[in-house]
Amino acid sequence: MVKIGIMGLTGCSGCQCEILNCEDAIYKLLGRVEFSYFPLAQDNNSFEEFDVLFVEGSVTTDLDEEKVKKGREISKILVAVGSCACYGGVQSQRNDEVSLEEMIKGVYGTTELPVKISKPRAVSEVVKVDYELPGCPLDKRQFVYAVAFLLNGVKPFFPKIPVCHECKLSETECLTLKGIPCQGPISFSGCGAPCTSQGVGCQGCRGDCDFPNYNEMVSILERNGLKREDAFKFIKVFRGKQAQDRISKLFRGDLDEKGA
Ligand code: SF4
Ligand code: SF4
Ligand code: SF4
Repeated sequence: MVKIGIMGLTGCSGCQCEILNCEDAIYKLLGRVEFSYFPLAQDNNSFEEFDVLFVEGSVTTDLDEEKVKKGREISKILVAVGSCACYGGVQSQRNDEVSLEEMIKGVYGTTELPVKISKPRAVSEVVKVDYELPGCPLDKRQFVYAVAFLLNGVKPFFPKIPVCHECKLSETECLTLKGIPCQGPISFSGCGAPCTSQGVGCQGCRGDCDFPNYNEMVSILERNGLKREDAFKFIKVFRGKQAQDRISKLFRGDLDEKGA
């Protein structure tokens, strides 16, 4: 029996709820896998050893760090699920703009807290991660595919093509051409483009596609009415360190000048 764990760090538990929403597929898996740790879904849990441990949430407290390091030690394969775990998520979007003290005071009004807090980090900034399934929340079909791949000894692989590709497949009219800010050209597809098909520009919740052209993306967002510094902020919402590193490298001059 393959032992699977589902562990949550700092996040909203939305990815774990998506995993629960795979109930039909999970039901079919139950003959081959045992969910030995899934506190969101069951009372009896064992945190001892796993063939595969799925980790949701960013590493933000000392307890998160302790849990994920222990989880890594006792797991053969560790998979980060959701954009908090893969990139640091929404809570890390201002990591490069303000100090930890300013963040804590802004949220809690005091720095005297019962737990030790760090700036939110992706799981891969703390321990080795074998695979990443991003998204806010993760795409439940990709979770099921990843489990099926791993049960059959195959490496999970999802091509990092842009969301624009999904618009073409579903014949969705391009929002950029209508002046609606959309990050699809630099965003990792696989979600089925639920946002653009409803008239909402892609927010980049799954992070970067391969070879994202940030320069051109910022220019397009400017043409669609965003100020340059707001385009940087828009791109950073879900991508955490991934975008902060690229933006700081590509647009250092602008950041110094405008304090974005
Ligand atoms: S990635 Fe999104 S849905 Fe998943 S835990 Fe983080 S905030 Fe929640
Ligand atoms: S709506 Fe966005 S994701 Fe879709 S084709 Fe246009 S730019 Fe690309
Ligand atoms: S369209 Fe963009 S924001 Fe919407 S789910 Fe897909 S990647 Fe995320």
